[in-house]
Amino acid sequence: MTGNMKRRVLMALVLAGLWTAAASAQSAKTTLDAAAAALGATSLNSIQYSGWGSDYIFGQAYDGNSPWPRFYVPGFTTTIDYTTPAWRDDRRRTQVQHPPLGGGFQPLVGEQRQVWVLSGTYAWDMVGQNAVPPAVERDMRSAVDGRMAQIWLTPHGFIKAALAANAAARAETVRGAKKTAISFTTPSKVKLEGLLNDQNLVERIETWVDNPVLGDMMIEAVFSDYKDFGGVKFPTRILQREGGYPVLDLTITEVKPNAAAAIEVPANIRQARPPAPAVLEPEKLSDGVWIVPGGAKSIAVEFRDHIVVVDAPETEARSIAVIDALKKTIPGKPIRYVVNTHTHFDHAGGLRTYAAEGASIITQRDNVPYYEQVWANPRTINPDRLAKSGRKPVFEGLVGSRTLSDGSRALVVYHYAGNMHNAGMLMVFLPKERILIEADSFNPSNNPNEPPPAISNLAHFYDAVERLRLDVEQIVPTHGRLVTLDEARKAIATYQDTQEWTK
Ligand SMILES: [Zn+2]
Repeated sequence: MTGNMKRRVLMALVLAGLWTAAASAQSAKTTLDAAAAALGATSLNSIQYSGWGSDYIFGQAYDGNSPWPRFYVPGFTTTIDYTTPAWRDDRRRTQVQHPPLGGGFQPLVGEQRQVWVLSGTYAWDMVGQNAVPPAVERDMRSAVDGRMAQIWLTPHGFIKAALAANAAARAETVRGAKKTAISFTTPSKVKLEGLLNDQNLVERIETWVDNPVLGDMMIEAVFSDYKDFGGVKFPTRILQREGGYPVLDLTITEVKPNAAAAIEVPANIRQARPPAPAVLEPEKLSDGVWIVPGGAKSIAVEFRDHIVVVDAPETEARSIAVIDALKKTIPGKPIRYVVNTHTHFDHAGGLRTYAAEGASIITQRDNVPYYEQVWANPRTINPDRLAKSGRKPVFEGLVGSRTLSDGSRALVVYHYAGNMHNAGMLMVFLPKERILIEADSFNPSNNPNEPPPAISNLAHFYDAVERLRLDVEQIVPTHGRLVTLDEARKAIATYQDTQEWTK
């Protein structure tokens, strides 16, 4: 072949490639237009849908082999404004199992109402008539991202975003049925994939987010039993999973296309300035015992040549701030151990940062295979220090109890089995100081005249303390103010969980 011919063949191939790409872009646009028409999405600017079902509290499982704890949702209403975009999710929640199968937020007494809102670049929660910053998510940005994803995880929101992003489409055969796979990345770099059935209705949507415990985590939404609501097709069943387990299982009974959906950003939310990155100041509780304050605390105990930290809440960012603060407060000593009170993500999300520092993780033995499994997940979305270090984490599985001592002081870790909150609950006792550190068994209310949640869990914890004959003066809860054992005893004598269960 002459050089000329080679060039011509090459050119033809290039043109053919371009032509194929253009044709597939054209067919993707045709497919998405057909999907928008099938769903009635073309002139749909807002929607409101309501019904009932179940929801599940992500990251709060009873143990590493259990799904997220389930609650009954007697009613919910979701409102979406696709243009702003804005979203409002208003749901009621009650205890479901009898007896409760265990996990965070159980037993739930009475009915809990949760109202979460997004409008543009603001997110907030409603508590009664008051708009407050998002409580569960770590910051405004993650709240906005998470709630925005909820719009994309609806059929109409997905198709609208796919059209805006010039999504790609490809034919697929799933168990003999013809499907179309749609994939795209949003301007905010979120990857989405959806599957259309042969009537161009969205059957499934998947997206991936970073989670401090689970790494790259899939969120999937599955839609079925589409019905026509005034020219708009909407699924009457929605199932959503996060990290492999259900988080939502909804039956939709009512859909209002183009419902009034404008959501004003309240002045206090609009004016709220993000808090300056907090410089953490550890508070001295006793000689060599420091509380690092926060929504969930870490407690540091100084030994002769090292530090032991109890709990690594929330995120790597939080752990980095805690570790930096401790290096200043207790200079020159490495953190040799971190005690993980239990696997709930608000207590375990920052553990990996300590592993990257070379600390061993003390956790109840049955948690070790769980952590080893989920920590091996890919971490491509937001690689953390441990992922970058290539270091192998060191776990020391605890059975019963374990004493850490260097002659100067002792720290005893106890497993108290059988607590409904979590199977692997650890508490930490400092015998000389008579300080007991616990998580989630006693989350005291700010107002001492209000009952703490989950009295049955508190009673179980109290019984364990009595059985072990621990001479406790001060309880340090990882959430909430410092309390005494006497206050726990009084709360148990005064209050009880009302036994109200729904199917
Ligand atoms: Zn917990």
